Amino acid sequence: MTTVIVYIKTNLLSITESRFAKNNCSSLPFASLGCGMNEEENAAFFAVKNNTFRILKGAETNILNDGKIDIKDEALKKLDYVIAGIHSSLKMEKSKMTERIIRAMKNPNVDIISHPTGRILKARDEYQIDFDKILRAAKEYNVILEINAFPARLDLNDQNIRRAKSAGVKMAINTDAHKKDQLRFIEFGIAQARRGWAEKEDIINTQPLEKLLAEFRFAERK
Ligand SMILES: [Zn+2]
Repeated sequence: MTTVIVYIKTNLLSITESRFAKNNCSSLPFASLGCGMNEEENAAFFAVKNNTFRILKGAETNILNDGKIDIKDEALKKLDYVIAGIHSSLKMEKSKMTERIIRAMKNPNVDIISHPTGRILKARDEYQIDFDKILRAAKEYNVILEINAFPARLDLNDQNIRRAKSAGVKMAINTDAHKKDQLRFIEFGIAQARRGWAEKEDIINTQPLEKLLAEFRFAERK
């Protein structure tokens, strides 16, 4: 059976879109606790499971300036996987930005670092980071790096994918879709992975479910 992870931003869109529109929330169901959905509703929302597919509970969280995550650990522990990314204070000095991301990686609730360099094509450059240090930390703490397939991001780029592969760091291809029709961006992510010479075993969401789940840090969370 082929595993397909549809990241949280896109899960169950038909249910969430009306709710989010009503509450003026745009993306993350889990982060929507403050946007009109309480924790019980959120749990019920994800309790969808049958013999043909399983929906994984996850969230993309924010890495704060000091490297902490913006959602409390008790809440993160309830998820199947947690993505953490930088969405603010993008112009930090190189060593500080590197330490900020590494501190997030040390949090055992964090599985994946999203758009690891932060570039937006034709709009902004990468953040200043020591990518070798990031790779060493990813390897040490078993953190996965995202290949963000959104056309304006394509982050990791091909060269960084190659470096991650050489360092033995696993990657995940994520559409970053905020709408249903953006799920097709997965093809750009796959093309990007191939440009970086990544193979099936380097990309966690090509793996069967059990192998995929084994890549996440459940054991450390208990
Ligand atoms: Zn993000």
